[in-house]
Amino acid sequence: MPDVKPTRPAGTDFIRQIVAAHMAEGRYPSPVTRFPPEPNGYLHIGHVKSNCLNFGIAQEFGGRCHLRFDDTNPETEEVEYVESIKDDVRWLGFDWGEHLYFASDYFERMYECAEILVNKGLAYVDDASEEEISESRGTVTRPGTPTPGRSRTVEENLGLFRRMRAGEFPDGSKVLRAKIDLASPNMLMRDPVLYRIRHAHHYRRGDAWCIYPLYDYAHCLEDAFEGVTHSICTLEFENNREIYDWLLDNIGFDEPRTHQYEFARLELEYTVLSKRKFIRLVKERHVAGWDDPRMPTVAGLRRRGVPPEALRYFADIIGVAKANSRVDIGKLDHAIRETLNPVAPRVMAVLEPLRVVLTNWREGEVEELDAPYFPHDVPREGSRAVPFARELWIERSDFSEAPPKGFRRLVPGGEVRLRYAYVIRCDEVVKDAAGNVVELRCSYDLATRSGSGDGRKGIGTIHWVSARHALEAEVRLYDRLFLVPDPDDVPEGGDFVDHLNPGSLRVLQGAKVEPSVAADHPATRYQFERTGYFWRDPVDGAGERLVFNRMITLKDTWAKQAGAPEKGAAARQAPPRKATGVRDATSAAPGRSAADKPRVSDVRAGKRRADAELARRMERYTRELGLSAEDADILSGSRGVSDFFEGALAEHGDAAAVAGWVVNDLPSVLGRRSLDALPFDGRGLGVLARLVGEGRISRRAAKDVLAHMAEKGGDPEDIMGRLGLERVDDYGALEAAVDAALARWPEKVVEYRGGRANLMGLFVGEVMKATKGAADPKAVKDLLARKLGARA
Ligand code: ATP
Ligand code: MG
Repeated sequence: MPDVKPTRPAGTDFIRQIVAAHMAEGRYPSPVTRFPPEPNGYLHIGHVKSNCLNFGIAQEFGGRCHLRFDDTNPETEEVEYVESIKDDVRWLGFDWGEHLYFASDYFERMYECAEILVNKGLAYVDDASEEEISESRGTVTRPGTPTPGRSRTVEENLGLFRRMRAGEFPDGSKVLRAKIDLASPNMLMRDPVLYRIRHAHHYRRGDAWCIYPLYDYAHCLEDAFEGVTHSICTLEFENNREIYDWLLDNIGFDEPRTHQYEFARLELEYTVLSKRKFIRLVKERHVAGWDDPRMPTVAGLRRRGVPPEALRYFADIIGVAKANSRVDIGKLDHAIRETLNPVAPRVMAVLEPLRVVLTNWREGEVEELDAPYFPHDVPREGSRAVPFARELWIERSDFSEAPPKGFRRLVPGGEVRLRYAYVIRCDEVVKDAAGNVVELRCSYDLATRSGSGDGRKGIGTIHWVSARHALEAEVRLYDRLFLVPDPDDVPEGGDFVDHLNPGSLRVLQGAKVEPSVAADHPATRYQFERTGYFWRDPVDGAGERLVFNRMITLKDTWAKQAGAPEKGAAARQAPPRKATGVRDATSAAPGRSAADKPRVSDVRAGKRRADAELARRMERYTRELGLSAEDADILSGSRGVSDFFEGALAEHGDAAAVAGWVVNDLPSVLGRRSLDALPFDGRGLGVLARLVGEGRISRRAAKDVLAHMAEKGGDPEDIMGRLGLERVDDYGALEAAVDAALARWPEKVVEYRGGRANLMGLFVGEVMKATKGAADPKAVKDLLARKLGARA
């Protein structure tokens, strides 16, 4: 696998620990994993996690990973998806070599295995309908009852099963079921259906088959046929593991055979990760297509410009855990920035232009300024010439007639530095008849040429583009697709599309880009100074027209919060471990990894070697509490941090939530202090986590409480009360906020009533903002729906 450099040492998450143990004991010669997509849609960022895990393990342990299309369902599969999935996996940097497989190629062998079960008296043909079968399965408290088919003889079953295959029976008239245990506490073990009849055309096998295996039956066999050793799937399949083992054991696959292991699927804030939901977004035209840059599909991320390294790095940061949790979207943004920062050349582009005329610059004169592509902290070289002339564009927002406090850009009579060029002064503001500012007449100061040493202390620097030389571009600015972290959290009868962010795409026509980009490779990923990372849209910007997508803005809130290392190449080489900022008095190492110091993680591992109790806790945090190896490492890296965590855990048993607070939220309020300098202890944080867990306060508002605790100490519950951050359940307060939101958007109210149901998200967002996130979104939506009346 060329392109992919492992960024994670082997054996760090619980799955890799299992694989490492198996390798150490020599159970398998080398691990064999697989990525088994169903070709019924495009890949999304959840699949990226699975790819990184499966291909990553193969690579780190010298094994192999198969790409297998799990195409046993004739009704949903399409060739188009097969090709796009292959393309996406390759783009991600993974290589299956010769190991490309299609489950549908195994239909014959699967059928033979079914006859083995029938012959052993372990499978029977049942004539019961779907409803009858589900009825006869019983309930959790009541065992199932046998259907008449269960008492058929082996000969009868074999005859009927062969006739099923021969096409003698219509769809739905018969099934093949495993004969396991109708009283099993695991409902899935109550004689699961193995085969059903479907006279359907299969995209690869045509009409060769009219019986099709179900997932549970097919999947374990696919793994076994291919010699897979570790079959890794998501947690929803935990209960299916028993069938997996039963089938393989009874069909006769001996140890060492394949086994199933489950990990937490990726769920990401402010988006949805389900093909079914993507289809709705596309069909109902909430997005432009599967590859809309706002989509969390690989196609969408690719088109937005996100490089594959960033997605692999993201998978690294989030790790692999045994408990489901929704990942902070800030981590994805962080991974993208960290990847782009050391490689993206800096150029200047003005997104919303305002004309500047330098009255003391000679008409027609052009100065070519030499501007470096990279800032000092990026060890890359290169520069380009940037033309400077009498008429320039600057960002409209870089000028203000009524500047807010601390505004360090251009104001009437004030000065500002133009990047790589001169200091200018605004002498005159030109307005049109309507009073809009249309031009600034300025003068430049020759003595201030960049590099001349005349720095004019304290003034700001802005970017600009020469008007005569500027290239015209369309710029697309993307924001989160949904307004709320969990779009699926909707009231009865509600719909995730109600939470769509109406402002998720802003298109700016008439942006001005410096001319040097015309000579660059069209796929160059830039940092436009001060406004973000951009690249040319590969579809609409492929021709003459310049169309730029913003991949990501510059501001990294997550890195700050988590205490990750500063940006830069060094940081990229040694990916930051999150929350290395949690320190206590006993930990000598500073909270970040620098190239010349031991990685904090090594320091923590050293502490555990020296302290058996810490080692035991590390073990417990991953195995029992199901925390990611990364979190567990941090939380067992020193007595101080670990005791703090234990204290919090004693107050609130939700380990994942408590770990999240300690690892992600604590560093930002800690600053440079050590843990024992905080005016509260682990117990205090635990109480706060509990208040969130009980739904008394939103997580957002709880962060404000935490900030207060960090400043002055105090009881979380008191602070919550004092700041008025308890969830707004009070109907009167809520109603006032709802009315205010509706009053602010009268024209949107009319549009909503006219049928634009997706405006609901906008209203909910308004109210949530107004209540500082303290209201219950469900209650807000209900109330809004009532006030707005029925949808047209
Ligand atoms: P959907 O539910 O949207 O149809 P899926 O899970 O059925 O998605 P598959 O094509 O069956 O999609 O998935 C292929 C592999 O990717 C499976 O091994 C599955 O476990 C994994 N996978 C799917 N979604 C996620 C996710 N959100 N996080 C991690 N792995 C995932
Ligand atoms: Mg599936």
